[in-house]
Amino acid sequence: MNCPRCNNNNTEKLVDAPKDNAWFITKCNHCLYTWRNTESEELTSHSAYPDIFKLNDEVIENMMVSPPIAKN
Ligand SMILES: [Zn+2]
Repeated sequence: MNCPRCNNNNTEKLVDAPKDNAWFITKCNHCLYTWRNTESEELTSHSAYPDIFKLNDEVIENMMVSPPIAKN
């Protein structure tokens, strides 16, 4: 399954719904986008994902590093 945002195929299932396999969440290991399979096509399909929010390798490589969240 390719990532809707960056179209990379390095994706994996992150979690299943706790009951009845009602949904599952997939994570892109390339751009860290996550999506639930029951969301709309524009959030789950690269061809329907809004062009303005799509990422390519150049943009991903130049993204700022997010600081870790402090733990108490
Ligand atoms: Zn991605």
